[in-house]
Amino acid sequence: MISFEHVHKRYPERGDALTDLSFELQAGEMAFLTGHSGAGKSTLLRLIGLLERPTRGQVIVNGRNLGALPRRKIPQHRRQVGMIFQDHRLLADRSVFDNVALPLVVAGLGHKEIGRRVRAALDQVGLLARERATPVALSGGEQQRVGIARAVVGRPPLVVADEPTGNLDPDLSLEIFRLFERFHQVGVTLLIATHDLGLVTRMPYRRLTLADGRLESDSRSR
Ligand code: ADP
Ligand code: ADP
Repeated sequence: MISFEHVHKRYPERGDALTDLSFELQAGEMAFLTGHSGAGKSTLLRLIGLLERPTRGQVIVNGRNLGALPRRKIPQHRRQVGMIFQDHRLLADRSVFDNVALPLVVAGLGHKEIGRRVRAALDQVGLLARERATPVALSGGEQQRVGIARAVVGRPPLVVADEPTGNLDPDLSLEIFRLFERFHQVGVTLLIATHDLGLVTRMPYRRLTLADGRLESDSRSR
């Protein structure tokens, strides 16, 4: 599903964020991405979502070589990748329903289909009853679940999450990780950047660790 081949990413003012990075993630795998702050985790995820392009090397996602992807095909690529952020990036003045519907509205789906899919996604994250609420009325854990519903509403084969539990306490973090596990069980490929080593080491998934922009280790927790 994901293949990095000798990928380098250099930001003009900052030097190398990723150096000679190679790894593969198979379709259906769930993996964690760990490493200290500044190790390159966000950069790696942004390359997958095509928010950035590699300076050198190849990034292949779902059979597409992203370095060679014409700009007009970027929106189509982004629909294949559900992205979840630490700060969830919800629109504060829109309802839960409208926030989750956004990617489908942008994709031009019909009214009825949008309603059906949004409710299915909200049901998956346990928030069907809150569709009319605005994000400020929700708890931090609920807000993140709305962010997750928005990421999966278009049924992307791949979901990447950047510190999705960074603002949550341990109980809520576990709840979010269990939710990811459920997506994994139905065949979604997931790559989750996290500092939450307590949770990572208790779950039986692959763990890629970055140090200073390089792949330091690639292992399973148990
Ligand atoms: P992590 O997610 O592991 O904290 P990042 O990918 O955010 O790491 O950062 C890796 C390195 O790249 C850091 O040195 C960071 O300062 C730098 N960096 C990240 N984004 C940018 C950017 N947009 N412009 C310049 N430097 C950046
Ligand atoms: P922005 O709205 O930030 O200008 P762009 O669509 O221009 O976004 O670019 C998104 C990212 O992809 C940027 O990091 C940009 O440098 C890079 N990029 C865009 N087009 C190309 C290209 N043809 N070759 C290499 N990198 C590109």
